[in-house]
Amino acid sequence: MTLVPSAAPAEQVLEPLDGPEHDAVNRARELVARINDETAADLAARTEFPADLWEWAAEHALHRVGIAEEHGGEPADIVAKMRIAEVLAERVGVLAWVWGISNCFAAPLLAALADEPTRKELLPGLAAGRLRFAFGVTEPGGGSDLFGALDTTLADGRVSGRKRYCTAAASADHLFLLVREAGAPAGGTSGLAFALVRTNAPGLSMSRVPTPSFASSFGTYEVDLDGVAVDHAFTGPAVKAALRTVLVEERLLIPAIVIGAAHGALRRGLAYAARRTAFGTRVDSYQALQHQVADAVMDLETARHYAYAMARRWAAGAPVTIGADVAKSRSVDAAQRVADVAVQLMGGIGFTRWGGVEHVWRDLRAFRLAPITEELVRNRVARSLGMGRD
Ligand SMILES: Cc1cc2nc3c(=O)[nH]c(=O)nc-3n(C[C@H](O)[C@H](O)[C@H](O)COP(=O)(O)OP(=O)(O)OC[C@H]3O[C@@H](n4cnc5c(N)ncnc54)[C@H](O)[C@@H]3O)c2cc1C
Repeated sequence: MTLVPSAAPAEQVLEPLDGPEHDAVNRARELVARINDETAADLAARTEFPADLWEWAAEHALHRVGIAEEHGGEPADIVAKMRIAEVLAERVGVLAWVWGISNCFAAPLLAALADEPTRKELLPGLAAGRLRFAFGVTEPGGGSDLFGALDTTLADGRVSGRKRYCTAAASADHLFLLVREAGAPAGGTSGLAFALVRTNAPGLSMSRVPTPSFASSFGTYEVDLDGVAVDHAFTGPAVKAALRTVLVEERLLIPAIVIGAAHGALRRGLAYAARRTAFGTRVDSYQALQHQVADAVMDLETARHYAYAMARRWAAGAPVTIGADVAKSRSVDAAQRVADVAVQLMGGIGFTRWGGVEHVWRDLRAFRLAPITEELVRNRVARSLGMGRD
């Protein structure tokens, strides 16, 4: 990957990753080649779901990635999905979730939990980009203490309760909701189930949570469920394993998105600083700025390789738990600093929409608290070392 726009030295700090690229990564490159600076700025400023970006992903057959061929998909592991996310995010920032949130949650959950008729009913629509899904785990009682706060109940094929921060719910056809079977003891993981409901089902209502960041385009929603009939309920021991799979894969996908977004911002910052002069000198020749860029890029590249190493391990079937948390934590930290340097390189312009980087700087903040907070990551790391619980 080349960051420096001109007069690039032969050796790059940012090394290509090992191994051949999945064909879909090239299709993602073709998609982003269609998006010029003006369109990227327009997408970043949206307050509505970017349906056009979703359609372009469909035209480039990206929604089918990771879905079995018999359901209209093409197999892909988490490494391939990360590469697609990284390529998209470099151009459209964290709006890359437009593709990821539906495909990367719903496809593995349906593959792991649904029977064949249900897969046949839903996966071809997902693969073709006709169906959209959102994922509701968090409740108003808390996201960190997920199981302690889980109050949404499944009884007699109906769900009741409330979900918070259900991102892209209003533009989704179906919601995958983590619920608890009625009668199971509260707290802990007893009676965990997934309920698949239609967003237009009677008894379901939603209201938008006001957010300043990328979620202002997808929207993130509070969803009220009052005896909503479920289309499909998934119960039994497979639920816990499927939940774990999507939580690990989410924490691996986020590094790809934040790193791609940070690279995109830095590329714009560097291009600006190469054109801008101060005191008769190109701004990018000032060592004070160069060292900020170098420090941030070294950390980002280190985090990038760690994240892909964890992803390869996971794709090979090895257990990855804390590694995915660490990948998320380190990459978000490094990406935030790169985005901050990108703003700095551009001076005042960096803080305006004209510069095309402030939205990345702002959007990345959300990933320090979602899908897992930085404090919880540190708790998990400390416990993995055998340290006591508070
Ligand atoms: C933009 C956005 C999009 C989201 N999208 C989705 C989505 O699509 N689906 C979904 O299900 N969820 C979604 N979420 C929810 C997200 O996963 C939660 O916000 C996150 O898990 C944190 O939960 P909380 O907000 O309830 O914070 P809390 O759990 O209330 O935590 C508050 C603070 O207390 C700290 N804390 C809590 N427990 C401990 C402890 N044991 N040790 C130390 N510190 C602790 C936390 O680290 C945090 O700093 C989204 C959130 C945002 C902001």
